Parts: sequence; structure tokens; C-alpha cells
Amino acid sequence: MSTHGPFATAINCMDGRVQLPVIEWLKNNYHVDYVDAITEPGPIKILAENHDMFTIESIKRRVSISTGTHGSKLIAIIGHYDCAGNPADKSTQIKQIADAIRLVRSWNSVISIIGLWVDEQWKVHPIEHS
Ligand SMILES: [Zn+2]
Repeated sequence: MSTHGPFATAINCMDGRVQLPVIEWLKNNYHVDYVDAITEPGPIKILAENHDMFTIESIKRRVSISTGTHGSKLIAIIGHYDCAGNPADKSTQIKQIADAIRLVRSWNSVISIIGLWVDEQWKVHPIEHS
């Protein structure tokens, strides 16, 4: 945990309810000072489907700035309850997060990538995956 630099990267929903919970969780659990925000409506759906190449390239470019110039060594990919951009149930979203992690992993094999779920009380839960 202490090997992470001052920056982490969050690929998060644009939803205003999930920004601060995710930032606080990453600061508390990974001891980073700043969280670079890459937001889209329902980004895990976009990444898991892997169809919208315009948006995916845009996300990829922003990730590379965060991991490059800012030296982020941790990327969090987030799904949440009541997502307007991705109205899928929790189990579907958990699977989308796993697929999204696989895609982002293919861009960068060195960086730690974690999945997070934000519940109906806006509490953040890490997702276990292999
Ligand atoms: Zn959302």
C-alpha cells in the first residue's frame, strides 16, 4: 500500500453522489493525496462493451496522463447503485467492472487496478477479483 505515489486514478461515473466517497476511500485506503478524476456516465458499461471507441480512446488518453505525468500507480474502476448512465443491476455491474479491468489492464500491465462498488448509502466497497 505504501508504494503508491501521491496520485491515484479514478475511472468513475460522472454522478455527483459518488465523487467524494470514492476520493475519500482511496485517500484512506491507499494513502494517496490526490485522485485524478476520469468521468463518464456509466464508464464500466462503455469499457465492458468496448464499442464506443471514441470515448474509450478519450478515457485511455486521460489515463495515460494520470499514470504518466502524475505517476499514478493505482487505477480504480467504479460502478454504483442507481446509475443513470448504466441502469444495470449490481451483479451485472460487477461483471462489467471485471471486463473493464481486463481492458484497462491491456493498456498498462504494471499498474494496480482495483474495482469498487458504491452502494445505496454511498459507501464504497472493494470488489474481489482474480
Ligand atoms: Zn452513474
